[in-house]
Amino acid sequence: MIWADHIVEEIKERFAQEIADGTLLLIRDEKTLSGRVHVGSLRGVVIHGLIGQMLSLEGIKNTFRFELNEFDPMDGLPVYIDAKKYKPHMGRPLYTVPNYNIEIDGKVSMAKNYAMVFGDEFADVVRKLQFPVEFYHLRPLYEAGEFNDVIREALHGAADIRTIYREVSGSVKPDDWYPLQIICPQCGKIGTTQVTSWNNKTELVTYVCKKDLVSWAEGCGHEGEISPLNGNGKLAWKVEWPAKWKVLGVHIEGCGKDHSAAGGSRDIGAHITKEIFHYPEPVNIPYEFITISGGKKMSASKGLGATSKHMSDLLPPKILKLLMMRKQANHPVDFDPYGNTIPLLFDEYDRLADHEFKRHPEPNPDYARTYQLCQLDPSKDPENLWHMRFSVMSFVLQMPHLDLEEEAEKLKESPLTENEKKELQERAQYVQYWLDNYAPDEYKFTILDTPPSDLTLDDDQKVALSKLTDALANLSDWSGKTIHETIHAIKEETGIEPKKLFQPLYQMFLGRTNGPQVGWFLGTMKKEDVLQHLRKLL
Ligand SMILES: [Zn+2]
Repeated sequence: MIWADHIVEEIKERFAQEIADGTLLLIRDEKTLSGRVHVGSLRGVVIHGLIGQMLSLEGIKNTFRFELNEFDPMDGLPVYIDAKKYKPHMGRPLYTVPNYNIEIDGKVSMAKNYAMVFGDEFADVVRKLQFPVEFYHLRPLYEAGEFNDVIREALHGAADIRTIYREVSGSVKPDDWYPLQIICPQCGKIGTTQVTSWNNKTELVTYVCKKDLVSWAEGCGHEGEISPLNGNGKLAWKVEWPAKWKVLGVHIEGCGKDHSAAGGSRDIGAHITKEIFHYPEPVNIPYEFITISGGKKMSASKGLGATSKHMSDLLPPKILKLLMMRKQANHPVDFDPYGNTIPLLFDEYDRLADHEFKRHPEPNPDYARTYQLCQLDPSKDPENLWHMRFSVMSFVLQMPHLDLEEEAEKLKESPLTENEKKELQERAQYVQYWLDNYAPDEYKFTILDTPPSDLTLDDDQKVALSKLTDALANLSDWSGKTIHETIHAIKEETGIEPKKLFQPLYQMFLGRTNGPQVGWFLGTMKKEDVLQHLRKLL
């Protein structure tokens, strides 16, 4: 069992009756579309999507609904947004803010409004992960009156909500505070308005659009009376969160660590849903942050932080899924695209495959399960495919004289299947992208035409390399395997320290003291070139 199996067990226990009745379990997650979506939000998508897939594997009906929230007010301007053009829109609901041909990574977005510039980008990333996710927007639910009942309950229970805020989080709201904001009919802003009374007979609120309610937007001073229903207003988000649970009928919804602390918004939501809306709190799956070690460097070079899109450019979907699920949800994930995190992650994927396909001497069932579940469609049996290791591939791709498929078949010692070729080419795209943008120097190789002039050998090295030159000259089958065996035979015969033998073999071609497995590496070179380099050295 892996960590997610324990969550599935908890869900089965809590909803035993619903499952027996064939009720559709609703899993929900959301993102406010105030800017490009940070990579941390992908962890929520993977956790919820994975739980949904695991429930389906057990025949438990479920649906995963993901909210693209375009109703919150614009309350900040990301650095990559033209502040002059967008400042006047501060405080307006995001869906009313226009898309003035916003450019994302050099491409003009065709999205219908500001919010969907980011919504479209994020949805594309999520679709690649192939979870059966249903996206929905918040605004139309309000307009259709779906929130009318919870709005009535929240306004009617405003005093009790203020008490919950005070008792749970210590936040004191004045007696005339109501958990709802109206879209100002005069200036169109929502972040600047305050409801001052609620009449539950006429179902009207009085409101004022204040100049100085918030520091990031200025209201117009308009006052009036209006119905808070049918999309005229929006609940305060700590009240709106539990309201969504009730309106949509949510059974399962996790949230990031920032919301999960005692006295935090989840805690407030749990009280409000129970005491005001009389709806049970969904099963929570608190999850930790993702930190990007090279994040600062990434922001500096691209003018922004590590976005979900950047991460999906870096990793194929199933390896991205693995990154997000390899540790249990409440453990932090650290990711450094500039270090060796990426090569190690690919290696880990290949190692998990060894456990799944019993190539490992002691197959671990949990590793095999992780491998099965990080497949994009875990309901299908994974296919046993040969993989080229990341570090080997990164070397091959840097060698203009090598053909990737040819080298793969040499290593596999048999022809690749069609699916193996597909996997090979897919991996090559990501390895190349990594080489071009993030690979540290230790992974960068160029072949020298002639051995470096400052390379000197001691007597032991001269003897061993001279014997090796003769032995290699006599090899009839020039392959990584035979070269490897020859080098080891010379090592045994002369008793030379391995390092002293291997280092000059790398140095004469790469100008550095390490590289890929030496026999294989020399096997990728022409025999005449290897002999010529060796003779120049001696
Ligand atoms: Zn106004």
